[in-house]
Amino acid sequence: MKQSTYLAPTLRDIPSDAEVKSHQLMLRAGLIRQSTSGVYSFLPLGYKALQKIERIVREEMNKAGAQELLMPAIQQAELWQESGRWEAYGPELMRLNDRHGREFALGPTHEEVITTLVRDDVKSYKKLPMTLYQIQTKFRDERRPRFGVLRSREFIMKDAYSFDTSFDGLDASYEKMYQAYTNIFTRCGLDFRAVVADSGAMGGKDTHEFMVLSEIGEDTIAYSDQSGYAANIEIAEVNISYKKADEALKAMEAVATPDTRTIEEVAAFLNVSKEKLIKSLLFLVDDQPVLILVRGDHEINEIKVKHVFDAQTVELAAEEETKTWTGTAPGYVGPVGVKAEVRIVADKAVEAIVNGVCGANKEHAHLRNVNPGRDFPIEQYADLRLIQEGDPSPDGRGTIRFKEGIEVGHVFKLGTRYSEAMGATFLDENGKTQPMIMGCYGVGVTRTLAAVIEQHQDEDGIVWPQSVSPFDIHLIPVNMKQEAQKQLAEELYDLLQQESYDVLLDDRAERPGVKFKDADLFGFPLRITVGKKAEEGIVEVKVRRTGETLEAHKDHLLDTIK
Ligand code: ATP
Ligand code: MG
Ligand code: MG
Ligand code: MG
Repeated sequence: MKQSTYLAPTLRDIPSDAEVKSHQLMLRAGLIRQSTSGVYSFLPLGYKALQKIERIVREEMNKAGAQELLMPAIQQAELWQESGRWEAYGPELMRLNDRHGREFALGPTHEEVITTLVRDDVKSYKKLPMTLYQIQTKFRDERRPRFGVLRSREFIMKDAYSFDTSFDGLDASYEKMYQAYTNIFTRCGLDFRAVVADSGAMGGKDTHEFMVLSEIGEDTIAYSDQSGYAANIEIAEVNISYKKADEALKAMEAVATPDTRTIEEVAAFLNVSKEKLIKSLLFLVDDQPVLILVRGDHEINEIKVKHVFDAQTVELAAEEETKTWTGTAPGYVGPVGVKAEVRIVADKAVEAIVNGVCGANKEHAHLRNVNPGRDFPIEQYADLRLIQEGDPSPDGRGTIRFKEGIEVGHVFKLGTRYSEAMGATFLDENGKTQPMIMGCYGVGVTRTLAAVIEQHQDEDGIVWPQSVSPFDIHLIPVNMKQEAQKQLAEELYDLLQQESYDVLLDDRAERPGVKFKDADLFGFPLRITVGKKAEEGIVEVKVRRTGETLEAHKDHLLDTIK
């Protein structure tokens, strides 16, 4: 490619609206241009790098046995109503109407489309397992698009979906994707970690996020300094809390009446996960984690609240606790390290509990059909006990440290969440109808590109890892008016391309200073400068990453750069 007519507009100054390095460099090196908030064009250099990443993604997906397809970006509302996400997804979903007034969304993700697709065309266990993927533009009306393509409203994602006949099968499919993701991000030259993540409202089982370590990351990773433990703090917090809650429960059980429920029983009763229950019902009183357990007397519908505390009585009618309790279920409370048992006398507090809860004041109703989220706020207590640096690691080995991370990939065991809602079933060996067991797996392709630049740059510009660099070599004749330089540059340009190197020839009539500055900004792995020694056939080779330079005769150039 010849630079004189190549669209790679460079900027000398740091654009004032770009806060982070990758965004600044992508603008300055002419990789992207903003069209409107959170919406970008990829210019040739940026698109070339993006295609390198897509190629790596494709190779690893295909190697893992996944099949590429392409689904529509436009998705009819009916699909989302079927899965129940038309309402649940909220304002991030870009909605539109056609000329007949029918409702649609621009796909932020494709569980609905793929599930119906597979439902209609796969009927037998003989076709399974199957993993399908696409590389496609996604749309999310992010509340705060920022950092350029790191969080944009239109972006490219690789999304894959696995379909299995059993949960063991799902585990195997998940493992393959996990490995493929590890390969992808390693090949992109990224320093990353796979961390345990929050299965959240999706109702799934295992889930991991792939986090690129970076100060500007919007997620915080809690990891152990001595073991492999690493989790998004969203979940680490629950784990820690859970441990404390367990301790609290054990302590409570020692003093409780025979009808105390275990947390598993309560979770099963409410039909929520243990983690979710803890997350929603655990809060702090005087810095002690306190778990409210759902309890009640079905017969007389009278709430007995026993409050057990650490060798002291706490006035639960205090305003904050009363408020916190409003809207949660009635029941027991128990802190860590129980020493004494005290019956609560504050009627007001009890009232607040009773009134706030899911029909608890109706006979037989207070523990039935409890719907977290509808009947009491689920996330309300989620950040009350954030895991902290210096905490013991939940796996008992080492101490917790924090690092910021950029989420570039996410693997998720969906189970039957979509197959059941949308009727994606198959006939098993015995001719019995079963729901397919699903997993979903996303890579933010455009975000990964920005993350690569975030991790690979210096004060002069981008320092591309070879695998992702738009070009392999920047070939720079210092002065195009010097016939010997021009000729040698063109000779080498042909030679290198014949050898399958991707070369950008700076054939512009610019001053050397300008050319070198642009070369550093673009940051391809090798720069070959054709200067004064052109007549002798000697050029200078410079390694962008190390700054190392050496001279080479054109006859030995290929060996030198190998
Ligand atoms: P985030 O937590 O950053 O909002 P997410 O968890 O909502 O991301 P997923 O639904 O897991 O994203 O989507 C899969 C991948 O798509 C993410 O891991 C990320 O790499 C990428 N991605 C998600 N949202 C964006 C965005 N707004 N811009 C660019 N990439 C994105
Ligand atoms: Mg998001
Ligand atoms: Mg996320
Ligand atoms: Mg995610």
